[in-house]
Amino acid sequence: MRIVLVGPPGAGKGTQAAFLAKNLSIPHISTGDLFRANISKGTDLGKQAKAYMDAGNLVPDEVTIGMARDRMAQPDAQGGFLLDGFPRNVSQAEALDAALASDGVKLDAVLDLEVPEDEVVKRIAGRRICRNDSAHVFHVTYSAPKTEGVCDVCGGDLYQRDDDSEETVRKRLEVYHTQTEPIIDHYRAQGLLVTISALGKVDEVTERAMEALQTDRAAQA
Ligand code: ADP
Ligand code: AMP
Repeated sequence: MRIVLVGPPGAGKGTQAAFLAKNLSIPHISTGDLFRANISKGTDLGKQAKAYMDAGNLVPDEVTIGMARDRMAQPDAQGGFLLDGFPRNVSQAEALDAALASDGVKLDAVLDLEVPEDEVVKRIAGRRICRNDSAHVFHVTYSAPKTEGVCDVCGGDLYQRDDDSEETVRKRLEVYHTQTEPIIDHYRAQGLLVTISALGKVDEVTERAMEALQTDRAAQA
């Protein structure tokens, strides 16, 4: 399956993507994770992206679209993928449409995770991520690690993202409303949009998402 996950920062896209990708046997492709990996490695792409990310702005399309396309061209993504954080504006959505069309393939669904704003703010404020693997995501109260600051899965250090500060989060939410939300209508018009509530326990949301994707698939068959 080829799926796009949409939702505000802190909705739980990365958390759900880890489970959905495993259940559906497709790679989880997060442009935010790709940028952060480039920043840790000190690449030119990472250097270009960092200032935009720290300010809560989108990294320019010229950098982002090429990076996402390169990742989607990898062998493990030929049978499908779960995109998380891409596309993030209408021009990226159009570039994705064109890239898929030139490969002769289509998206199966765009899964929109709905969460009220006060909840995403709480989720982001307590988010902690493992330095070894960004798929290991915790929350200081909602899904606390057994030992503070230590990843339950691999023992790695947990850290708070630079852009999870209160001020940057406000900017990221504004960018989400003005630039990313319009892609919801773009995909609704294509009949691809599947919306679920992302409130409740992580495994309840995963179950809801799997059910919604299966129902959608059955409806299209
Ligand atoms: P996104 O990728 O959409 O920015 P994350 O998956 O990183 O969001 O989740 C943001 C924070 O919210 C993390 O700390 C995560 O542990 C927590 N979280 C994710 N899903 C839930 C949930 N269903 N209930 C409570 N907290 C959650
Ligand atoms: P995320 O990990 O998805 O929360 O993304 C973190 C930051 O990376 C965003 O605030 C942007 O600065 C940048 N970023 C991630 N994906 C994109 C994208 N598709 N387009 C532009 N910037 C992006």
